[in-house]
Amino acid sequence: MKILNGTALAKKIKLVLAIEIEYLMKKHERAPKLCIILVGDDPVSISYVQNKKKSCNEIGILCDLSILPYSTTQDELLALIETLNNHVDVDGILVQLPLPKHIDQTVVLQAIDYKKDVDGLHPMNVGLLNISPDAIIPCTPKGILSLLKAEDIPITGKHCVIIGRSNLVGKPMAQLMLRENASVTVCHSKTKDLACLTQQGEILIIAIGHRQLVNADMLKEGAVVVDVGINNVDGKLVGDIYNSIDVTNIEKKAAAITPVPGGVGPMTIASLLENVVEVYKRSVRNEE
Ligand code: NAP
Repeated sequence: MKILNGTALAKKIKLVLAIEIEYLMKKHERAPKLCIILVGDDPVSISYVQNKKKSCNEIGILCDLSILPYSTTQDELLALIETLNNHVDVDGILVQLPLPKHIDQTVVLQAIDYKKDVDGLHPMNVGLLNISPDAIIPCTPKGILSLLKAEDIPITGKHCVIIGRSNLVGKPMAQLMLRENASVTVCHSKTKDLACLTQQGEILIIAIGHRQLVNADMLKEGAVVVDVGINNVDGKLVGDIYNSIDVTNIEKKAAAITPVPGGVGPMTIASLLENVVEVYKRSVRNEE
């Protein structure tokens, strides 16, 4: 069974981006800039945004991180987004999810200028993903596709089964795989006889956030398995299927799998950096 190494590919992508940014900075006399907003002090979210900022800085992207108190009102958050929307030197805006319950996530995501929406969650980018190659693609599905392509995994004509239908992962993943000419089945918590569908998946993408729901019996022989899930078991990060108790049987049956950590996670960050550079390039093109 092959391990699809997201860490190694992400490192390569970052090296290429760093060289491109150095060239673009000389040409346009300014660096790409991302503004990240986090509302609240959830330690996991704080570690995510700090990691994103560190990755930006490593390759020459300026990154402003605003950590706002949990009590921040929706209007205050919208006012900050409006300011950043109007700031010509801000290329990308990322609001870390989830937001506190008193803030309407849909309203906030719609308030971000879709041209600066590096998470690809604005309705305009969601729509563009269906009809145009110009959409900003959500980072996790984009990273998964880059990894599959870099590993020469054939996609055209394959049956791709996705478990999970979130706006962040499952739905855009389905759209991307359709675009790549796969036949796509999307499963969710109300799906009947999940195993019957997963057993048909030549590419099986698992984005649930629950351990042990999928076991080796549910895989097709020779399947390529993408494990998006992140679970904390006794302080250790594990996937939805990777490193499960069924690991020996999974290794016998799957042709390839993404590890956790080191699979989809680093590719998500690499794709975020690609999206920041992309919106920057579009912005400086418009300034010319
Ligand atoms: P989410 O919004 O909670 O969605 C989970 C999906 O799983 C839902 O569509 C849900 O179905 C489905 N589901 C739940 N129980 C199920 C069951 N018993 N059978 C079939 N489907 C079931 O989560 P998400 O944001 O998509 O993230 C999923 C996982 O990926 C999480 O562990 C998250 O931490 C991880 N993640 C990792 C990365 C990374 O970079 N590595 C990035 C994003 C997310 P319903 O729609 O019917 O509720």
